[in-house]
Amino acid sequence: MILGVVGAGTMGSGIAALAASAGIPVVLLDIPGEDGSDAPARAGVQRALKARPAAFMHPDRASLIQTGSLASDLPLLAGCDLVIEAIVEKPEPKMELYERLESVLGPQTIIATNTSGIPLHLLTSNRSDGFRRRFIGMHFFNPPRYLHLLEVIPGADTDDDVMSRVRTIAERLLGKGIVVAKDVPGFIANRLGVHGLMLALRLMEKHDLTIGEVDALTGQLIGRPKSATFRTGDITGLDVLQHVARGLSESTGEEFGMPAWVNALVEQGRLGEKSGAGFYQKSGREIRTLDWKTGEYAVREVALPDGISALAGLPLAERLRGLLDLAGTHGDFLRDLLLNSYHYALERAPELAFDLESVDQALEWGYGWELGPVRQMDAIGLDRIRVQMKSLGLEEPALLEQAGTAFRWVKDGEVHTISLDGGTEAVQDRHPPRLTAASLHRAGAVVFESDHAALLDMGEGVLLFETRSRMNTLGAEVVDALHGALDRIEEEGYAGLVIGNDDARTFSAGANLKAVAVAAEAGEWKVLEENIRAFQDTSMRLRGAPFPVVAAPFGLTLGGGCEFSLHCDAVQAHAELYMGLVEVGVGVIPGGGGTKELLFRFTRELAPYAEADPFEAVKRAFQLIALAKTSGSALEARAMGLLRDSDRISMNRDLLLEDARQRVVNLAPDYLPPVPSRITALGNEALGNLRYALWSFREAGQASEHDVRIGEEVALVLAGGEGPPHEVTEQDILDLEREAFLRLLGTRETRERIRHMLETGKPLRN
Ligand code: NAD
Repeated sequence: MILGVVGAGTMGSGIAALAASAGIPVVLLDIPGEDGSDAPARAGVQRALKARPAAFMHPDRASLIQTGSLASDLPLLAGCDLVIEAIVEKPEPKMELYERLESVLGPQTIIATNTSGIPLHLLTSNRSDGFRRRFIGMHFFNPPRYLHLLEVIPGADTDDDVMSRVRTIAERLLGKGIVVAKDVPGFIANRLGVHGLMLALRLMEKHDLTIGEVDALTGQLIGRPKSATFRTGDITGLDVLQHVARGLSESTGEEFGMPAWVNALVEQGRLGEKSGAGFYQKSGREIRTLDWKTGEYAVREVALPDGISALAGLPLAERLRGLLDLAGTHGDFLRDLLLNSYHYALERAPELAFDLESVDQALEWGYGWELGPVRQMDAIGLDRIRVQMKSLGLEEPALLEQAGTAFRWVKDGEVHTISLDGGTEAVQDRHPPRLTAASLHRAGAVVFESDHAALLDMGEGVLLFETRSRMNTLGAEVVDALHGALDRIEEEGYAGLVIGNDDARTFSAGANLKAVAVAAEAGEWKVLEENIRAFQDTSMRLRGAPFPVVAAPFGLTLGGGCEFSLHCDAVQAHAELYMGLVEVGVGVIPGGGGTKELLFRFTRELAPYAEADPFEAVKRAFQLIALAKTSGSALEARAMGLLRDSDRISMNRDLLLEDARQRVVNLAPDYLPPVPSRITALGNEALGNLRYALWSFREAGQASEHDVRIGEEVALVLAGGEGPPHEVTEQDILDLEREAFLRLLGTRETRERIRHMLETGKPLRN
């Protein structure tokens, strides 16, 4: 597979960085520089390397991108399987480029456009039938690495085979969530998303609210990103919004116009984040909000009615119901906004999409909504929606009439929905079913279940251990349940176990700190010692079990979550993996086997090299632990040594559990647990070096007294204790680890760190 990308601007360079991160070689072309060179394409790669959040999952992957200029290097595209065009959003240059592409590309190469709004049929009107058959829309969202949505738009003549090849490349290799959209202005996500944004602007004026109030009402409160309406606008750029809105007004004949005061901001160059001011203005650490009536910025507190704060902690469905019943102006605004958005989505759905699931996914994956509009309506209850639409004078949309009591329902373990042609259909007819904890619960594949964890039958003899605690923390109940799961697999002869869950962001935030804090404050040292030992035993049991255990970590995988993953026989990680042993942040050391495991892992890795200095392994582990380093991706976790070369990466989070199950299936037939190993601990030799390093950190003012104390404990464990070099077992180091953990827990400073973390969610440097 080789990918061609033409246009190395915001989108082209982001798509190239994503593909290279996935391991795909990329040819990236742009117009020639003034000297005729590939400078513009190279500049695109450099921008991607500097982008924050990072566009590459590891900077080394930039070496997979070959840059060139459209003047001289067009033939480089001839060998590509897929060429994505991401040049300026104007029909003429795109059409000229396609003409040139047609003359160099082989008959197998798929050509895709990343256009946000130009109809595909217009772009290919001068091209041959053969070209049109392998032409397709691939609408990525910015930034391509982070936004899951990819709208795929088949043209009237696109071959089915082209569609299925694009699906495989996009889902499997690039990890995107595919939504198939019709060839209409704005496709699905921007048509509905931009409509919602313009609606919020107009309703702010109608209900006489402030920018701050609207952002407080349209962010996390209603299950949308924190950046809500205006902060999102500032990030996108007011000029871009104006351009998109104008384009949609012209192409649809609908009213997408922005209020005059927003157009004035654009004219004055107040374009949002990139120009330093837009709806908000940042001045040092201060954020000032625009008064849209006067055009002045000031620091403004937002006070919402008590009724809203009371709802804030509830699950989204209850929150939405509560908000729709809220009296007063804020309630009026939200009713107007939500019901008009639902109404518009239902009215437009048949024109934009092939099914309702795609409408929801477009907004969930492209705009970061917790639930798409159709799922929101089901959660609120359709009768309520009908009554409230009526009271706003909105006519009941045909799809709502058709829906009866719900847009979706479960029948025989499968989700069914009303279809856009007036009938009903199974969601999985158009959307390949995904193996998730939720789908297993729905199908009744529950072997064991408690408030803290569940054991689910994934099929093919594989069980899934799903943590269900807050942030998937690993308290005593979870650890007990995990032991229960291991017992059951052994007794009942299952093939193996996957550890994973469906959370949006957090595989596991680590041990249950609160329980540790309570026991430490109460001086229950015996209980604590037993709990730590149980945690360590669990890690070792994951390793030694007579069947394969595969961890499927993603997102935040910290502390104990990282330690368990380190001990599994294999890891199938999502590409977005923020993994680390961050225990020093709360004043302790990794005490669930993590310190031991890094020491053994790094020492074993040096074993084939007779001349290697064994202290290098100790130093490597020390740096990861003492500096609480966290990976910015699975590739970085591999470079850090938290993943092994044999551990694998799934680009697509939706496929992670399926991939993990397959790992168990592959490992199971001839599985034997790893042989317990011994290493030579360096004793005083290592301790001296590490103590010197700690002393110099202290002298340079980079470490506090307590940092040094914690560092000393890490050093002591990694050295295998004091004394001359000596052979140690894993258990020897685990014992040292546990003692060090308890000693630190006995200090006032550590307990302060823990308390601070529990209260503020942030580490304390004391
Ligand atoms: P951009 O302005 O950042 O980059 C465009 C690139 O095209 C530049 O590197 C420019 O040198 C090159 N270019 C200009 N004229 C050219 C020509 N005649 N031939 C070849 N190359 C030429 O734009 P962008 O934001 O990356 O958008 C690119 C495409 O992606 C557009 O079709 C846009 O609608 C679409 N898109 C943009 C976004 C977004 O958020 N920016 C999102 C989805 C889709």
